[in-house]
Amino acid sequence: MNQPRSLSCREIPSADRILGWPEVLPLLTRSSRKFVSNLLTKVLTNLRQELRDGIAEESDHSGLRQAITNRLHMEFSLSTRPLLVRVINATGVVLHTNLGRAPLSREAQERIAEASTYYSNLEFDLKQGSRGRRDVFVDRVLQKLLGCQKALVVNNNAAAIFLILNTLAENGEVLISRGELIEIGDSFRIPDIMRKSGALIREVGTTNKTRVSDYEEVISERTRMILRVHPSNFRMEGFSSRPSLADLVKLSRDSSVPLIEDQGSGCLADLKSFGIDDEPNPKASIETGASVVCFSGDKLLGGPQSGIIAGDADLLDKVRRNSLFRALRVDKLTTAALEATLLAYLRNCEASEIPVVQMIHLSPATIEQRARAILDGLAGTPSTLEFKIIEGTSMIGGGSTPGHCLPTSLIAIRSLSSSASQIETHLRHNTPSVLARVEAERVLIDLRTVFPEQEADLVAALKNLVSAQS
Ligand SMILES: *Cc1c(COP(=O)(O)O)cnc(C)c1O
Repeated sequence: MNQPRSLSCREIPSADRILGWPEVLPLLTRSSRKFVSNLLTKVLTNLRQELRDGIAEESDHSGLRQAITNRLHMEFSLSTRPLLVRVINATGVVLHTNLGRAPLSREAQERIAEASTYYSNLEFDLKQGSRGRRDVFVDRVLQKLLGCQKALVVNNNAAAIFLILNTLAENGEVLISRGELIEIGDSFRIPDIMRKSGALIREVGTTNKTRVSDYEEVISERTRMILRVHPSNFRMEGFSSRPSLADLVKLSRDSSVPLIEDQGSGCLADLKSFGIDDEPNPKASIETGASVVCFSGDKLLGGPQSGIIAGDADLLDKVRRNSLFRALRVDKLTTAALEATLLAYLRNCEASEIPVVQMIHLSPATIEQRARAILDGLAGTPSTLEFKIIEGTSMIGGGSTPGHCLPTSLIAIRSLSSSASQIETHLRHNTPSVLARVEAERVLIDLRTVFPEQEADLVAALKNLVSAQS
């Protein structure tokens, strides 16, 4: 028997020769010779190692040529395709922090496209023909929406709190209830950010109970601010209470100490009919008399990542003059998207154009209809998988509305031959990735967070799953 002769490293052609092969030409027309040549060096280094280790499968020259070009093309597509890609969020978590939080409205997307394609009046006053300020766009809408004297935007709500604390309370004391010294997520802790801002934390009350008198007793000439933080991602039940905002407003006025409220989400749409009535509303807080409120632009508001600061003009002027503002300010794309999002609320307080609000409004019956249509799309495909429509719940997420669930309809998938986690992995490895929940050995698909235009891709992913199972 003739053993196939194994190839040695010396038989690999030179890089220059390979770059002359017609199979490589398509890569050279799409990128520089240097880029392709670097990829080729990597491919050849690996191949040489495999030949030395005796694990390369190629046994003749044409196999070798094929292998080199295949690997080069593979390397090219791996290193030139973006890693940040769209996914199908079938988890039913509307504001999924790991999946980019709020998807933007059509109008916000269009405004981003326009602001990024062309020049704009970002910092130019077209009426006066002189230098303008990028603050004016969002300030104008927020004044109308919230009834505040002034509003500013920074990169996110964490930046907003930091900037407020650093401006108004550096080297002074900030009063905060022990029940509000919370961790928001990803190790973002209110006490840490307070310390970094240069403010001294003066804890008042206890974890479960804080009274107005607890604040009152420690107010001194060192006190710069009363900070109230919405405990957004957890709920205290039982023997617990904290003062109402109105009580703190009275104390703030009587003692001339500003009251700042970190609302977390900042909910402008009316979600009471969904059982969501304890999310702080920035307009209501300003009306009640909070000096300054801050909240995220990409939580319940449904806009781009940003932190909105609204309230008293005197205080906000100081915040604006802080040199750190420049380091934390938003770019033109965020400005464009946020202005569009806020204008949608101004036109129509129901905000029915905002995807986050639309998703929250979807009824279980509508979601069930869509789920049935998806299962109909799979009908006739023989499978060892069991698909069922069951009742369940969706979550709003994003550290807002803790404990609130929205009733929904779910596609539950169970397999006779593989585990739920294997099915979840299979869906996740699909292109585009389908992200589902696993509960009680079932994979759950919630269409609340799947865009209708993604349903065809979802059906294709499920068909893939079915054929992988049979
Ligand atoms: C989410 C949240 C923040 C942080 O907001 P980001 O926009 O993510 O920086 C701060 N405070 C509270 C209460 C929050 O819920």
